[in-house]
Amino acid sequence: MHMIILPGDGIGPETMAVTTQVIEASSKLFNLGITLDHDLAGHDSLSKYGTTVRPELLEKVKKADGLMLGPMSTFDFKDESKGEINPSKFFRKSLDLFANIRPARTYQGIPARLGEFDLIVVRENTEGFYSDRNVESGGSEMLITPEVVISLRRITLLCCERIARAAFELAMTRKKHVTIVHKANVLKIGDGMFIDACHRIGKDFPEVQIDDFIVDAMMAHVVRHPAIFDVIVTTNMFGDILSDLTAELSGSLGLGGSLNAGKEYAMGQAAHGSAPDIAGKNIANPFSSVSSASQLLKWFGSRTQQDRYITASNHINQCIALAISSGQTTRDIGGNLGTQETGHTLVKLLQQTKIVV
Ligand code: NAD
Repeated sequence: MHMIILPGDGIGPETMAVTTQVIEASSKLFNLGITLDHDLAGHDSLSKYGTTVRPELLEKVKKADGLMLGPMSTFDFKDESKGEINPSKFFRKSLDLFANIRPARTYQGIPARLGEFDLIVVRENTEGFYSDRNVESGGSEMLITPEVVISLRRITLLCCERIARAAFELAMTRKKHVTIVHKANVLKIGDGMFIDACHRIGKDFPEVQIDDFIVDAMMAHVVRHPAIFDVIVTTNMFGDILSDLTAELSGSLGLGGSLNAGKEYAMGQAAHGSAPDIAGKNIANPFSSVSSASQLLKWFGSRTQQDRYITASNHINQCIALAISSGQTTRDIGGNLGTQETGHTLVKLLQQTKIVV
């Protein structure tokens, strides 16, 4: 497997350093033959090349088997004509990575605030309210007068149907329960189309139980009893917000793994941002990034029918759980290790823990 590594901004270089150590250790343990190609995106690329993401990176990624992208300081990137492109958007859109899969679960070792749960948010990733990706060129936010802004949301039947199918297929591998989250009471046409598409696709999966919640009420339900959820499917912005909540409910935003997947390509990228408030302090939790890499290995293994990648992914997840239950973690989830030390511990656990196939 050939993988492109782009560490990103803020805490990205710290968490990606741990991630690459884990990938390299797993590659040795499971004979995966992974080769890593390190390059730049974000602020470092802007300083060196005058753009946050070079077009040739896209060609490189298309020839590779997977991409690990670090968190990006997207808030800083305001003007594409000055090379300030949002790299996350660039890859999601250019590679048509329409399904953003964001698992969240509780762990032994972190006091569960709301009882145990294990769910996955499946978020549409290529349209919705995201003005930098829902039009072919330019942006879909307009300054009408100095005091009036209009932001457009794009919802298409194709995107609704394919994200719904991704959610139902995932549910078939789990507890066979899909929850649709929407705002069809107000966004009657767009979310009306979304909810109808989900129910229609759901008919192809008669074993899967379906329910739906309005997004505002969903915030109360997921905080009240997260254990009732399995796979949650929703549109772009709702999924972005909800998945930060579910990651934090599981213990920390620093635990939230995230895979951006399409039909041909996939990109692992932690659910959190570049966390400038803690960057360079060796305290960021690397597990979100490592879990995202683990998701990428599983995606590649399933796609190419190579079980050893799936076993490697399960082993990484098991060792993350072991590190957490033994308190060998960063301080956001109760440990006292730095980012680097957490990485070293995880690599040792990978090498010393019995592999369950
Ligand atoms: P953030 O997700 O970076 O941080 C939110 C809070 O969570 C902060 O207190 C931070 O310290 C904490 N946190 C995040 N990751 C952590 C980790 N691994 N371990 C421990 N704590 C962690 O959100 P923000 O501060 O609002 O945004 C910072 C920048 O990141 C902005 O430029 C924003 O646009 C960008 N952003 C990028 C992505 C992405 O690249 N996918 C996602 C969200 C935000």
